Amino acid sequence: MNQQSGARAGQIQAKTFMQGLSKRVLDHQRPESTIRAKVGVGNRSTWKRSPPKERNLTTIRVKDEQRLHNGAVAPHHALTWTDGPPPRTSENQNSLNSAAADITRKKQQAIAQDAMTAATRTHLAFQYDAKSLSLQTTIQSVRPFAALEEANQCLFKQATQDDHVVVTKETIFHPQGGGQPSDEGTMTAVGADASGAERAPVFQVKAARMDAVHDGQVLHLGRFASPADGAAIRPGDAVEQAVDAEKRLLYSRLHTAGHVLGSAVRSLLEDQIPGFDELKASHFPDSAACEFRGSIEGRWKEPIQTRVDEYVSRAMPVDIDFWTEDDFRREGLERLIPDRRLLPPGEDRFRVVRIVGAEVYPCGGTHVDTTDLCGSTVVKKISRGKGISRVSYTVSDRV
Ligand SMILES: [Zn+2]
Repeated sequence: MNQQSGARAGQIQAKTFMQGLSKRVLDHQRPESTIRAKVGVGNRSTWKRSPPKERNLTTIRVKDEQRLHNGAVAPHHALTWTDGPPPRTSENQNSLNSAAADITRKKQQAIAQDAMTAATRTHLAFQYDAKSLSLQTTIQSVRPFAALEEANQCLFKQATQDDHVVVTKETIFHPQGGGQPSDEGTMTAVGADASGAERAPVFQVKAARMDAVHDGQVLHLGRFASPADGAAIRPGDAVEQAVDAEKRLLYSRLHTAGHVLGSAVRSLLEDQIPGFDELKASHFPDSAACEFRGSIEGRWKEPIQTRVDEYVSRAMPVDIDFWTEDDFRREGLERLIPDRRLLPPGEDRFRVVRIVGAEVYPCGGTHVDTTDLCGSTVVKKISRGKGISRVSYTVSDRV
């Protein structure tokens, strides 16, 4: 499959998927993933004032919605495909039969490569242990940014032509999505031939995104510390990933705080506002907010703050679990059941975060262990429009 037809297939898949979604599913799934797509495609500071038209974002948004939960569970096909074209076979220009056989072989190799590339999913290690800030893994592919499919280039607005994109077997880098920003950090070669080198080769990760073409793959955008480092890190090599711990902690605090706020608002207003529901959320440091269906008047700001303070001070455990649809039903949370088409083939469990004593949310992000670790969480402002209320919040600089 060439790049163009790959992108087209993705669009068709996304379109079909979109058409198949029920309103309930969309209402539920949109929240965080819509913001992710907006952030990935548009300009976040612009969005704060006036959301961009979503018309052109449909394809990417739907793919993101798939990915949010595709990444939610474990199943990872442990393929060890290294990139690059299939090995060339020699062509015998004097033999038509040989040439025909060669074309057939190449086709078969191309098909095999497509199948392997499509099946390769990145194991999302951060979903199992958000406190692990380093991980040794294997390089699957290294590509110059310019060699990326167009749909994937669109994911990285900040990229330059000097950048590269690295795919690894596992990752501890949370890709931007679910309302949570991308992790940053490094990948350092392990056990490379360092003879003559003063230090191990390093790839500096500026951003991570879910691949728009190959489901479940995480793309790490960044640059090598030097051209020599770029030449030294190759598919099959072992690398040590390390995320920026300070940023990760802030993002985790903001993400948990967003769900604490959502829980607090629901507990206060679910029975007060007709048609109340939680919609989307952003947990970005400069624009964190949760949206709700229904009109939340300004007089609720203080009660919401009081309830948030209560939840934070109670140090409620924040548990990560993996639920089947039956688990949701058993908990009386049918309204939260995500669309099963969001799961990778063969999987039946969705990742959820439970704030024990409050709410459960299907969620692929990173969190702090207990609500007190969010630190002081401040309700900033309630704004209303078109039947939607937006409650913005922030967390203090220090816990
Ligand atoms: Zn979440």
